[in-house]
Amino acid sequence: MGTQGQHLAIASLDQVDPKDIWQKDKDHFVHPWTHFDSFKKDGSLVMGRAEGAYVYDLSGKRYLDGIGGLWCVNIGYGRREIAEAISAQALRMAFYNPFVDTTNVPAAELAAKLASLAPGDLNKVFFTCGGSTANDTAVRIAHYYHAKRGKKSKKQIISRIDAYHGSTYLTGSITGRPADRSPYLHFVDDLVHHVSSPNFYRAHEVLPNGVGKGMTEEQFCDYLIEELEAKILEVGPDNIAVFFAEPVMGAGGVIVPPKGYHKRSLEVCHRHDILYVSDEVVTAFGRLGHFFASEAVFGIVPDMIVTAKGLTSGYQPLGAVIFSDRVYEAMSAEDPDGWFTNGYTYSGHPVACAAGLANIALMEREDLNGHVQKMGPYLEQQLNTLLELPIVGNVRGHKFMMCVENVMDKTTREHFPDAVNIGKRISDHCEKLGLIVRPLGALNVISPPLTLSKEEVDELVSLLRQGIEATMADLK
Ligand code: PLP
Repeated sequence: MGTQGQHLAIASLDQVDPKDIWQKDKDHFVHPWTHFDSFKKDGSLVMGRAEGAYVYDLSGKRYLDGIGGLWCVNIGYGRREIAEAISAQALRMAFYNPFVDTTNVPAAELAAKLASLAPGDLNKVFFTCGGSTANDTAVRIAHYYHAKRGKKSKKQIISRIDAYHGSTYLTGSITGRPADRSPYLHFVDDLVHHVSSPNFYRAHEVLPNGVGKGMTEEQFCDYLIEELEAKILEVGPDNIAVFFAEPVMGAGGVIVPPKGYHKRSLEVCHRHDILYVSDEVVTAFGRLGHFFASEAVFGIVPDMIVTAKGLTSGYQPLGAVIFSDRVYEAMSAEDPDGWFTNGYTYSGHPVACAAGLANIALMEREDLNGHVQKMGPYLEQQLNTLLELPIVGNVRGHKFMMCVENVMDKTTREHFPDAVNIGKRISDHCEKLGLIVRPLGALNVISPPLTLSKEEVDELVSLLRQGIEATMADLK
């Protein structure tokens, strides 16, 4: 018998006993990415409310949210018009199934809007529940597309080390972050092949036998492209369906690839009839200053764009695969057996799509992309001042997607030993100071709401500096 909930609907935080909630969470909520030992010891920090770029825990302590929820609260918290759009749609029609041939107004409107914002002939939209299910669906679209054209053997998937593409059974395998390879889980390694991470700062480590040492960025890019083509030839172009790439890798360490990398990868894929999926779960909806980064920042029109997160700014769960007319036409060519048997109860959920439409309308009205184009370089410039600190080895990223990499030795780029847990120590200090920055191994990620003012950027960088300095003092 579980704990009885006394307040099944939370009308006000005044009804909430912080200790009771903390205990219920600890006893019953199994979190994504639980580290059991530390969770059993410490439990969770319970957040209660949020406004603008700030979140407040149940004690009322305020934090500047340097990670925008989880790279997603692009328009900031407490935006009344999104809440009103959600409420109005929930009252008008909370749900109706999207299967086969029924639909709803917000889903149709949002699909058309996404088609108008996406580059090239990316005019078809498949809605999902989030980014993982969208990447999973992208694989099924690729398989269906090739099989329908009589190329049934094209099933294999190419991804990259350090990539993050989700946490379903399959996308957990497409993901290439070494840290996610729990020895207690199984991975679909007979379907997925990983090529090197495009991490130029760590080129000496990411390429085999240290061949990356001393390479120029151009040589590094040449190597990666040659490696991709060699992998394709090894697996056999007739066996490969799809290549996955985030425009800027997020959870793998905010890795901006070398110049020309995406264009050249796409050319290689197309030469071998392999579909190119641009995973824009993080990079879309303004984070890099545009609705989509693939074409606007990297000059490519992929075959599919996968997105989620900023699509609703996290106000509702929603993901989407936006794919090309060319792929759709092949998939939908006349065929009595032509059922695309893929989909979710909540594909095109009317309340989530209403949130998406309101979110895009707000971004357009406030010109948030323009704001990021102006404020992004200032954030980058201010974060770069942290390079004065002895342990900050690299500040990288683009616009509102940034990270700081901490090292033992700036010249050799030597890592801190894992036991130091440097990123977590810094983020713990920052948390005490009232700033949330996400630790990722030796990195701290900064992906704040896109609404940040100049003063808020200054506050963020100043608190991060204090957090790093406090950590350095501990290490003495
Ligand atoms: N793809 C990328 C690039 C991501 O960063 C994420 C989540 O962080 C996902 C996919 C998975 O999205 P979700 O957590 O919504 O399933």
